[in-house]
Amino acid sequence: MERLSVSTRKRREMVEITSLVAKTAKGSGVQEGCCLVFVPHTTCGLTINENADPSVSDDILRTLEKLVPARGDYRHTEGNSDAHVASTLVGHSVLVPIHKGNLVLGTWQGIFLCEFDGPRNRQVWIKMLPSIQDQPVEL
Ligand code: ZN
Repeated sequence: MERLSVSTRKRREMVEITSLVAKTAKGSGVQEGCCLVFVPHTTCGLTINENADPSVSDDILRTLEKLVPARGDYRHTEGNSDAHVASTLVGHSVLVPIHKGNLVLGTWQGIFLCEFDGPRNRQVWIKMLPSIQDQPVEL
C-alpha cells in the first residue's frame, strides 16, 4: 500500500489529487483491476466530481457549508463537529477501475481530497486491487 501526503491550505477546500493517484497506480505495475483510495482521517474525505470547471467544487463546498454550518447545536467540544459531519457525508474512500495500467475516469471526472478542517497535512492511502486475470499464471 502506498501512503502519500497532501497538504491543504484552507479550512475547507477541495484539492484535486487525480494525477497523484494516476502516477501511483501506474508505478504499481498493475494493469487490470481497481485502485482503492482512502483517507485515514475523520475531518476530511474523498470524492469524484468535475475537474474542468472550478466553480463546481466551489458549489459543492458552499452547499456542504449550508447543510453543515460551522456553528450549530453540536456536542463535540473540539469545535470541529461540522468537519466530522461533512466528512461522513462525503465519505472516506473512492474506488477507481484500472485498465491497461491507467485510471478509468469519465471525461469530466477528477479525484478530490475534501478538506473540512484544514490547513493540515493529510495522508492518502492507495491500495491496488489487481483483478484475478492480472495475477501471474502458475503452471
Ligand atoms: Zn473533532
